[in-house]
Amino acid sequence: MIGRQTIARINIAALIHNYRTIDQLAENSKTIAVVKADAYGHGAVPVSEALSSMVDAFAVAFIDEALHLRAHNIRHPILLLEGPMSSEEMRLARTQNFWLVIHTTEQLADLMSLPLSQRPTFWLKIDTGMHRLGIPVDSARKLLQRYRDELPSDMVLCSHLSCADDIDNPVTHRQVCALKELAEAFNLPLSIANSAAIQAFPAAHGEWNRLGISLYGASPLPDFTAKPLLPVMHLEASVIAIRTIQAGDFVGYGQTWQANRVSTIATVAIGYADGYPRHAQVGTPGFIHGKRVPLVGRVSMDMVTFDVTDVGPVICGDRIELWGDNIAVETVAQHANTISYALLAGLSSRVKRHYVTM
Ligand SMILES: *Cc1c(COP(=O)(O)O)cnc(C)c1O
Repeated sequence: MIGRQTIARINIAALIHNYRTIDQLAENSKTIAVVKADAYGHGAVPVSEALSSMVDAFAVAFIDEALHLRAHNIRHPILLLEGPMSSEEMRLARTQNFWLVIHTTEQLADLMSLPLSQRPTFWLKIDTGMHRLGIPVDSARKLLQRYRDELPSDMVLCSHLSCADDIDNPVTHRQVCALKELAEAFNLPLSIANSAAIQAFPAAHGEWNRLGISLYGASPLPDFTAKPLLPVMHLEASVIAIRTIQAGDFVGYGQTWQANRVSTIATVAIGYADGYPRHAQVGTPGFIHGKRVPLVGRVSMDMVTFDVTDVGPVICGDRIELWGDNIAVETVAQHANTISYALLAGLSSRVKRHYVTM
């Protein structure tokens, strides 16, 4: 065996469990599987293959990600969440059955200038308050009136929630109401719910919901445990060195951590170039021999150090979990002042993905 065995095990059974569990929360909606950013680091092709018999469509951020899926024989419609980057993409979208999120008036005009036979399927994105992409509600109302007889009757009106992870925020309610009003006025289907809203805000359910982070078993909400989801990614690395240091000794770059007792330090083969967060603080947990151990010192590019004094003998080659079955990725994210999305999507290609089906 060669190589350093820094591995993300991807549990396909857990993925399917999560999809079914969440899909059942919204019986009158179709659940799009969002597989952008290489399926949040899990591998867009294997994830899409595993879900292909269950889902009606996939979503990615932009066309390259969609073409990658097509090159690997994924045949479902694929929604491009960031919309087309050029009119050339509109043509390609038609032949490839990519669904476009049209988010500016110019894009809509461009698209409507195409002969009907050349128009791709598209969703119209409304800016209900996020102020990132989309046509403002009032302009959208006028556009919809203007194009009333030309627009496909199944064109989806979509929008994105800015505070879905904060259930009680009235902004969410206002955004949902604004989109619903528009959809009802023009008798069009809608899509606004992401993972958080599918689980915690049923009023936001539409004809289509867009499921991202919770498909992978992570929660978008800080303490949200209404439905048991399973972590799909289990990240592990090996101990490659062990040393005993004295009270008063320092560990790592910048000498930021000092031992206050005789300590056993395990050096582990994962670092920020692998996507382990550089800002993980002292105390971020790892899991070895059935126990949690604290990270000590700074995370370096290829390595990280844990204080294993309290777990009994640790030897080189022992495996340590960074996140997965025993340590939630959200916990690590909290210790690194970031979010689970960034950790999962940021896992680099240096980490091998191993797929297991049960
Ligand atoms: C990424 C994304 C989603 C999925 O969000 P989650 O919080 O991961 O469920 C939904 N809609 C849009 C527009 C997105 O960009």
